[in-house]
Formats: sequence, structure tokens, C-alpha cells
Amino acid sequence: MLNEELHIATFNDLLHYFPYKHIDRTRLYYIHELTADMPFVQLRGEILSYEEEGEGRKRRLVAHFTDGRGVIDFVWFQANSFKWIRQKYTAGKALIAFGRPNIFNGRLNIAHPDLDPAENLQLGKMGLQPYYHTTDRMKRAGINSRAMEKFTKTLIGKIEAASTSDTADSIGADYLPASLTQRLALMPLAQSLRALHYPASADELRRATYRQKFEELLFIQLNILRITRHRQQHVRGHIFRRVGPAFNDFYYNHLPFQLTTAQKRVIREMRADMLTGQQMNRLLQGDVGSGKTLVAMLLALLAIDNGHQACIMAPTEILAEQHYATFRNMLADMPVRVELLTGAVKGKRRRTPILEGTRSGDVNILIGTHAVLEDTVEFASLALVIIDEQHRFGVAQRARLWQKNDTPPHVLVMTATPIPRTLAMTLYGDLDVSIIDELPPGRKPIETRHYWQERSESLYQNIRREIDSGRQVYVVYPLISESEKMNLQNLEEGYEEWCRRFPDLKISKVHGRMKSADKDTEMSRFANGETQILVATTVIEVGVNVPNATVMVIENAERFGLAQLHQLRGRVGRGGEQSYCILVTKYELSKDTRQRIQILCDTNDGFEIAEADLRFRGPGDIEGTQQSGTAFDLHIANLARDGQLVQLARDNANIILDADPTQSLPEYAPLWKHLSELGKEAIDWSNIS
Ligand code: ADP
Ligand code: MG
Repeated sequence: MLNEELHIATFNDLLHYFPYKHIDRTRLYYIHELTADMPFVQLRGEILSYEEEGEGRKRRLVAHFTDGRGVIDFVWFQANSFKWIRQKYTAGKALIAFGRPNIFNGRLNIAHPDLDPAENLQLGKMGLQPYYHTTDRMKRAGINSRAMEKFTKTLIGKIEAASTSDTADSIGADYLPASLTQRLALMPLAQSLRALHYPASADELRRATYRQKFEELLFIQLNILRITRHRQQHVRGHIFRRVGPAFNDFYYNHLPFQLTTAQKRVIREMRADMLTGQQMNRLLQGDVGSGKTLVAMLLALLAIDNGHQACIMAPTEILAEQHYATFRNMLADMPVRVELLTGAVKGKRRRTPILEGTRSGDVNILIGTHAVLEDTVEFASLALVIIDEQHRFGVAQRARLWQKNDTPPHVLVMTATPIPRTLAMTLYGDLDVSIIDELPPGRKPIETRHYWQERSESLYQNIRREIDSGRQVYVVYPLISESEKMNLQNLEEGYEEWCRRFPDLKISKVHGRMKSADKDTEMSRFANGETQILVATTVIEVGVNVPNATVMVIENAERFGLAQLHQLRGRVGRGGEQSYCILVTKYELSKDTRQRIQILCDTNDGFEIAEADLRFRGPGDIEGTQQSGTAFDLHIANLARDGQLVQLARDNANIILDADPTQSLPEYAPLWKHLSELGKEAIDWSNIS
């Protein structure tokens, strides 16, 4: 039952099934003592006042609570209970509050506290009590949190008995070397496992949590750095000695503009990598429109000059096709064969010549989606792989790609999404980083304006003026996650409205539910200028390039995050014309949303926006998407919240690898053994996509 429901198959699994909370009814705390990593605590005091903030799903009731020495916020999210709470717990009434302190927007708060009249206070003597998650099926079978408590208590009792005898059980034996646990004053393993279930005090729980978090992050960094060092020492890379006809002809005869200083610098950095004899593994970060694709093209030409092939991998078919079109265009007059391979390229007649050409070396540049990873795709001499705009491969996965080649290709990962440093250290911890921090000259900064939905005619007049002078317009509708039907309806109604407003114009419509062939037809009609307005969902978010489009209208802009709005805005401003981004929102906006919109109207700087974005988002929003890139599951560490620990873990992983580079010292043997055991449990990477 435990195995089926919670994947607990061994004692060790059970030991690592940590309680989701502890309850400390032994004493009262003062607000000024609280920190974010405490268990559930009790406070005594009164509510000063209430406020309602946010809107939609983020609507919340905030109470300012004081114990006479400090103030903390209580927060509730269920709008239908707001009235009831305000009536029941009126300001000034003496209360006992019970809950877990949390950090939100840099301030301590407690979400959904239990509140009781102060006279009901009872202090228990039990110590901190653990609470375990269990499933409904388990509860029906009588295995609730209390039953889990019995299991863990028995198990921990056994382990403690064993560790005092000579037959020390391997479960309790610490795999971190003593030199490390001493230097960082880490709690020993056995104690920390016990304390994570049965802490004697809030402080012991905190120290146990610290050790477990550190340990999880340490093994992730050890894994990353081990892969990186192994590569540096043992994996040979292609050497691109020659700058030959392909590069030079393009650079001097076909390139229609000067490279920016930043583009030149990153190309120099990569060229240096390619001369070392080691495999390049680089992350290229640069804002939308900063010219990353062009850098990719120049590198591909360099590969060709040195007798090799290049492969460019995009996350979607539309993007792959766009790259393909760009490359075909730019390289049209040159003897370079570029081919496209995606899932949509079907049928023997179309696929076979591409596969054959790739195998013979006749195809110089292969552009595609995940399809290029299939076994049927064999390269004569693949020396450069460029992965565009993706966050889907973990470090270990990336290391395994193309490993079957005798000399693995250089790998360049390109991203337009600025990533916080500690996150990058984990997700891209094996990559060197190059940054393009400059836009091509002559770009007129995009002008961003805010319109209310109950919009004045002037918006339509302005758009009419742009279209009359030959420009094109994007109109984007958000995906509303609750219902696909609503999404479509939203888009369809919008589309009809635009058709009514501009009956004389041709208007395209693209959304995720369309067949990919239809989607492509519509996209290319717009790209070719056959249609003047493109009404779409966020499918156009990344990478699409139509320089003649100068207006981006974003409907319901309040529903998008900052980073996403910035990405969308980056679709215009790609030609020499003045471009506009129009953010359309409803009239009633929360303070947060107003600030978000204001930031976009004020700045075009992607890094500034990324920082603001992190400030606005709670760590919760980042978790789902970002945890997924790690090789081992994180049980209690959190990449967004435990940033400083990530750095500490990385530093110490380096110290360990320096001390025992061949993984042969007895002191570290248990550590390496544990790392390889974690590796075995890890997710099956063979199942990409
Ligand atoms: P990214 O991939 O970083 O979003 P792109 O490579 O698609 O950016 O470049 C955006 C646009 O800018 C393209 O139309 C490209 O041709 C153009 N471009 C790139 N580099 C330069 C440059 N140095 N000077 C002028 N235009 C450039
Ligand atoms: Mg791009």
C-alpha cells in the first residue's frame, strides 16, 4: 500500500518521507522571534485592521496582527469567507493565532491561520508533533498521519538502537565526510533524520532541515561538476582552426549589416572554446531581438569551413520553420545546403533525401525539432549543435546527447529568458555563459502604451494609420488555463470584433488547437504580408520574426506575467520603423498589476524586467517549471528559496572534487557510493520529449 500510494518501498524511503509540518503547542512565540523556516507556532495578540488586496485568483484578505512587540500579516485566499472572518475576529479582540510563518514579497506572513479566543490557550507537553500527507485510499485503510507517525517512530527507534551497537546499520551511517560536516557545523545524518520527524525543538528542526537541504543541493552540484570535469578532462572536441570561404563570403559579401560589439565578443568567446581541443558547452543569453540567431548562423558557417555539419534544434515546429526560412534566405546565394526535419516532414519521398544527405555530409546545416534526435538521423560529421530557446533538457540529458559520436559536437544553448543566477547554476550549471547585452543599432525603442478595454476610438485609428502606411499588426489573446473552450471563445470573439472593425482588411487567426499545417499556412500568409492583422494566442510568443509588423496589441494584458509580456513585445521592433506595444486591460486593476504595466511602459531592458519579475512572483510560481531540470528529486530544498545554499553547495562540491579528483580516497568513498545510488534512482532520461 505504501509503495503504491507514496512510492515508499524501503525503510530508507520511509525515513525520507518527511512530515509536511510540525506543530509546536509547547509555548507561545513572539512575532519578532519568527523566521520563515519555523514549524507551526502559536502567537497571542490582536488584529489591528483588515485590507483586501489583489484580484481574480490572487484576491486576498490581509489582517495586520500585533502582539504588542511586533506586527505580522495574516492572509486568506478564499474570497467567500472574507466577510465571515472579519465579523468573527473583529479588530481588538484578544486571540491565539496558530500557523506557519512564511515569506511573501520579502515580508513575514501566515496564510490561513487558525484563530481562537485567547482564553482557549492550552500549552501541551508533547514536543513537536509531525504531520504526514497520506492519500484518500490510505486514509480509508486506516493509514492516516497518526499511523505514519507510528511507523516512523518504530523505525527511528530501531536505527538508534542499531547505531549504538557494533552492527551499525548502513541507514544511519553518514556519507558526508567528517571534514565537511565539521567545517560547516552540519548536523550528523542520523540525528537529522530523526529530527526531521521528531525534533526536540524548533531550533533542532531548523538545523536538521538545513543539513538535508544542503545535502540535496550538494549532490546535485557534485553530479553537475563531475560531468563537467569529466568532459573537460576526457572528452575531445572538434578544433575549428580555419576561418574559410563559407564564413568569409557570408561575412564580407552577404551580411547586410555590421555585427554589434556584443555579437563580436560572444563569437570570439566561442571561437576560443573551439580552439582548445575541448568540447564547447555554452549558454548564450541575450534579449529578444539581440541577434542570437545570426550568431548561430556564423558559427554554423565556421563548422562548415572546418569540414563539418551543424544542427539547430528548436522547441516547436513553427520556430524550426522560421529558422529554416531565415537560414535559407540569408544563405541563398551560397553553396550551403540547409534542410528542415520536423515531425511534420512526413513520407519517405520527403524524408529520405534529407536523411541520406545528412548521412553523406551533403547537408551542411540540419534544422529541426526533437525529430533530429531520432536514431534514423545520422550525421557524416556533426561538430556543432545549437539548442534554441529551450529549458527542457536537464544537465545529465544534455551530456548524453550525441555522446555516441566519437568526438561529440560543440553545444550552444540559446535563451532569451534572463535566469536568476542560482537557478542558472543548477539548470545550466555545466555551461559557460556568454551574454549579448546590446541591441543592433538603429532600433527605435518600442513605445509601450496602456489602454483600457473600454477603449477609445483612438486605438483603432492609430492601428488604421499603421496599416495604411504598409505595416502589420499582431493581436494576442491570453490562454486562460481554467478552460480550453473559454480560450477559444475568447479568441473567436476577439477575432470577429477585429473583422467588424476592419472589414476591408485580411486577418489571420492562429491558435494552439489548429492543425499544425493550417497554423503554418496562416503564419506564413502573415509573414508574407498577405494578411495585415494576425489574431493569435500565445503560440507566437517565442522566436517569430516578421520585421514589417510594428504593432503588438496584447488583450487582457493583466493576465500575463511580466516576462511573458516582454517576450511578446519583442515580436515587434525588429525593423527600422517605430514600433508600438499596446497593453489593453480592464479598468479595475490591482496594485501589482498596475505596477507591472507601468514597468513595461517605462523600460525595454530585459534584465531589469526579469529582476522586477522575480520580485513580483512568489517562489511558488517558479518551482513547478524550474525544479524539473534537476537530475535528482529535491525533497525539501527549493531552488527559488534556497539560493544561498546553492552557492554553498557548489563551492563545497568543488572543494570535494579538488580533494578527491579520482574518487579513490577512503574518506570520500561513502559519498561517491551515495551519489551513484541517487543516480540509479533518478528519472529515466532515455525517455526524452
Ligand atoms: P534573437 O534570436 O536574439 O531574438 P535575431 O537573431 O532573430 O534575434 O535578430 C533579430 C533581428 O535583428 C533579425 O531581423 C536580424 O536579422 C537582425 N539583426 C541581427 N543582428 C543585427 C545587427 N548586428 N545589426 C542589425 N540587425 C541585426
Ligand atoms: Mg531567436
